[in-house]
Amino acid sequence: MFIDGEWCEAEGGRRFEVFDPASGAVVGSVPDGGAAEARRAIAAAGRAFEAWSRTTAYRRAELLLKAHALMTERAEALARTMTEEQGKPIRAARNEVRYGADFLLWFAEEAKRVNGEILPSARPDQRFMVLHQPVGVVAAITPWNYPVSMITRKLAPALAAGCTVVLKPAEATPMCAVAMTRIFEEAGFPPGVVNLVTASDPVPIGAEFTSHPGVAKLTFTGSTAVGRRLASEAAGRMKRVSMELGGHAPFIVCKDADPVHAAKGGSLVKFLNTGQACISPNRFYVHEAVYAPFVETLTERVRAMKAGSGLEEGVAVGPLVNAAAVEKVDRQVRDAVDKGAELRAGGARLTEGALAKGHFYAPTVLAGVTSDMLIHREETFGPVAPVIPYGDEDDVLAMANDTEYGLAAYVYTRDLSRAMHLFEGLRFGIVGINDINPTSAAAPFGGMKQSGLGREGAREGIHEYLETKLGGFAI
Ligand code: ADP
Repeated sequence: MFIDGEWCEAEGGRRFEVFDPASGAVVGSVPDGGAAEARRAIAAAGRAFEAWSRTTAYRRAELLLKAHALMTERAEALARTMTEEQGKPIRAARNEVRYGADFLLWFAEEAKRVNGEILPSARPDQRFMVLHQPVGVVAAITPWNYPVSMITRKLAPALAAGCTVVLKPAEATPMCAVAMTRIFEEAGFPPGVVNLVTASDPVPIGAEFTSHPGVAKLTFTGSTAVGRRLASEAAGRMKRVSMELGGHAPFIVCKDADPVHAAKGGSLVKFLNTGQACISPNRFYVHEAVYAPFVETLTERVRAMKAGSGLEEGVAVGPLVNAAAVEKVDRQVRDAVDKGAELRAGGARLTEGALAKGHFYAPTVLAGVTSDMLIHREETFGPVAPVIPYGDEDDVLAMANDTEYGLAAYVYTRDLSRAMHLFEGLRFGIVGINDINPTSAAAPFGGMKQSGLGREGAREGIHEYLETKLGGFAI
């Protein structure tokens, strides 16, 4: 753990092990912290805040740029650490490191653009000045599915804004967080500005983050259930919160779309990170006119995907994070098949040879999925593409919106007015139109409804860490 500029152990020297989900092998261990360590880190961040918030934006940007340079230099090592503890194919890990590094670069630039405003008043003797100031100490809780980029997506804007941070990474992927914290240390951030507390049990630390008066803001990425709980605890002290939660993304293929192109896009985005992404398509609504060729192309591509350790050449799909994740996917698939879905590819755990030691599930295509199936309603977080035929465009919009989630949605069409109609009608924070990767450090990422509060990345991303102050001057 890293508190007040010092690497330290947990009280009593407790540690916990980190496992490779592809083989079950132990890949390392980290200190097992608790409430006491969280309090020490919050206190350190509180002491560092005064000076850090007064450091010029130019200096803060310089340190973020150094961190960016270090991250770029260490990209390969970071990617390997990620594949070892998280499981994704090494190529995907490299992409994530690049995406993660972009936040450091982008927010280094944005630090210098936290502009205020001078507003006209109705009174001749009055002037208004609007100022944006850092909120204070930020507590950040990050997930295991994107263990590097979710750190920079939170820390880069927080640090750029002038906040100090206590980070608690997911228990499955603390080694990426350790590697990132070393980068912040070596970039020269002063002691206490970035603190890291690792723990096998997140609950006492979460409780400290939401109740400690020294924390001004909680930023969280994870499941909707945990996010709701943390947000309601934080409300007791009126703490600011940003929440990036679950999704249940529809992927709509219109009757005028090229079904082969759409199926290629769908197979790429669905199986990215073994389906363990909050923006992963969870329901493929395909118009009857293009349904058969879509399912055929999707099935062909999915059957060709190789599952295995992310470090192996040619592997497209890695393991799931743990046994419970495999169980959830299998339960949804069995439920769908029992209720009449057609299994076109996959549909079972993978246990042959070396795969037996890891948490593998075969890349799966289910056709003829209907709304009574669990998979139609629940977030899957696994390598399953459920396909649902539809005939009417108004119906498909209603079906796509009929979920408590509102993070990402995808549309394939070549018709401009149809694209605009669906873009405007979908109640989702991110809509990809013929685009399977509508994300960037420069673009606002976040959800509507139960998918969260606030946005990360973009200009909005830094404002999540700023308060607005109004000055009224009588002259
Ligand atoms: P998932 O594992 O499905 O991504 P979680 O919401 O369980 O989603 O995990 C996301 C992050 O939230 C992880 O860092 C985890 O340790 C943390 N977390 C889980 N439960 C709690 C809790 N009760 N309090 C604080 N943090 C939690």
